Amino acid sequence: MSFHIPETDRPRIVILGAGFAGLALATRLQKSRFQVVLIDKNNYHQFQPLFYQVAMAGLEPSSIVFPLRKIFQKKEQVYIRVTEVQRVDLERREIHSSIGALHYDYLVLAIGAKTNFFGNENIARHAIPMKSVAEALFLRNAVLVDYEKALITPDYEERQGLIDIVVVGGGPTGVELSGSLAELKKYILPKDYPELNTDEIDIYLLEGGPALLPGMSDKASTAALRYLQELGVKVKLNALVNDYDGEHVSTNNGDRIHSKKVIWAAGITGNTVAGLPSDAIVRGNRIRVNDLLQVEGHPEVFALGDIAYLETKDYPKGHPQVAQTAIQMARHLARNLHLDKPDEWRPFRYKDLGSMATVGRNRAVVDLPKWSFQGFFAWAAWLLVHLFQILGVRNKMVIFVNWVWNYLTYDQSLRLLIKPKAPRGRLESELIE
Ligand SMILES: Cc1cc2nc3c(=O)[nH]c(=O)nc-3n(C[C@H](O)[C@H](O)[C@H](O)COP(=O)(O)OP(=O)(O)OC[C@H]3O[C@@H](n4cnc5c(N)ncnc54)[C@H](O)[C@@H]3O)c2cc1C
Repeated sequence: MSFHIPETDRPRIVILGAGFAGLALATRLQKSRFQVVLIDKNNYHQFQPLFYQVAMAGLEPSSIVFPLRKIFQKKEQVYIRVTEVQRVDLERREIHSSIGALHYDYLVLAIGAKTNFFGNENIARHAIPMKSVAEALFLRNAVLVDYEKALITPDYEERQGLIDIVVVGGGPTGVELSGSLAELKKYILPKDYPELNTDEIDIYLLEGGPALLPGMSDKASTAALRYLQELGVKVKLNALVNDYDGEHVSTNNGDRIHSKKVIWAAGITGNTVAGLPSDAIVRGNRIRVNDLLQVEGHPEVFALGDIAYLETKDYPKGHPQVAQTAIQMARHLARNLHLDKPDEWRPFRYKDLGSMATVGRNRAVVDLPKWSFQGFFAWAAWLLVHLFQILGVRNKMVIFVNWVWNYLTYDQSLRLLIKPKAPRGRLESELIE
C-alpha cells in the first residue's frame, strides 16, 4: 500500500488533522501554488462545541460532522487520505502510517488534543470522555440504556447508581453538559419515564478549582453557578476526583457518589505522533512553536491549534485551546505561505474575540474583550455564533429547525438506542472510531 499521491512540480504541503486548524488551512490553500495533502483518521470534520447536544439527543450526529471529500469536491490540488499517522521522520521529511510513507516539503501538525485522565488508570477505564462524535453517541446510548434498566430495577441503591450522573470538570463542556442533563431531567424524562420518580435523579458537577468556567470573568462564573443551581444541578467546587471504579466516584473532600456514569470533561492533553524532538514537546503534550508557528530547528514544520504551544508576552502559558486560536493560526499560516519569500512572513498575533458558554434555554454567559453579559441575550448570541460556525447550509438549517422545535416543544426526538452491529466475521471496532 502507499499514499498514491502524484508527484508534481508544486511543493507538497501535508496537513495532519482536519479539525478547525487543518481544515481552515487546507481551505485557504486549495487554490495556491501548493499540492495539499490533508490527512485525518476520520473521513469527516467534527464540530466539537456541539458534541454535548448529540450526547443529549438534541441533535443528530450528521448535523455536526461534515465529510471531508464533500468540502473539497472538484479541488484538483487537494488530496484527502484517511489514515492515522503514527510517526514523522524529520530528517527524510516523511510521514508514516499503516498505508506507507509520504514525502513532504512542508508539514503542518494540526492533530489536536485528547482527553486527559491525568494518569489515573481507573478513571480512564470507567469514565466516559467526550472528545469525538463516537464518544458523544456512546454517552447518549449509556444514558438511555441506564434509564431503561432503572425502570426494572427495584433496589433503591442500585437504581440510584443507574439514574444519577456525575460530570467532572467545570469548564464550558462540563457546564453545558450538566445544564443539558438537568433540562433532560426536568422536561423530558418525566414524559418518557412516567413510572420513574425523576425527583430521585441527581446531576452532579464536580470542579477541582474554586470557581466554574476558569478563564472567564467572575461575573460569568457566578452566573453559570447560579443558573446550574436553579436547574437543580449539585455543583461541588474544590472537589478533586481521585478515583472511580465504575460504581463509586470519590473526591479529595471525602465525598463518595454512587453513579454508573461519570462524564470526564476535566482536561485535555495533546495527541502524539512519534519522531518529534523531545525538547519540542512541552507541558500538556503540546508542541512548542515560534511566532511563525514553526517547530524550532525545522522551519518547514508547523504546529497549529490545540497542539501548538506558543508563548508570548500576553500568553506566557501558551494560547487558549479553543476553536478561534486554531482558526486564526491557520489563516495566519496560509497568509504567510502565500508569500514567496519567508523573510516577508509576519509573526502570529492572537485576537481575542471573547468566550461564551450556555447552561440551558435562555441561560448563557458571554465575555467579550471589554464587556460581559448573561441571560437571554447571551443565549441568543451563543446560538447565533454556533449556527454561523457550522459548516454547510444543510447542517445550519437542520440545526436551526431542531433548536426551534426543541425550544417550542420542550422536547427532542432523537432518543433512539441504535447500536452499531458488525456482520459476523467483522470486528465492531472497524465500524467505530
Ligand atoms: C466537547 C467540546 C466542546 C468544545 N467547545 C468549544 C467551544 O464552545 N468553543 C471553542 O472555541 N472551543 C471549544 N472546544 C475546543 C475546540 O473544539 C478545540 O480548541 C478545537 O477543536 C481545536 O482545533 P484543532 O484543529 O487544533 O484540533 P481538532 O479540532 O481536535 O482536530 C484535530 C484533528 O486531528 C485528527 N488527528 C489526530 N491525531 C491524528 C493522527 N495521528 N493522524 C491523523 N489524524 C489525526 C483528529 O481526528 C481531528 O480531526 C470544545 C472541545 C470539546 C471537546
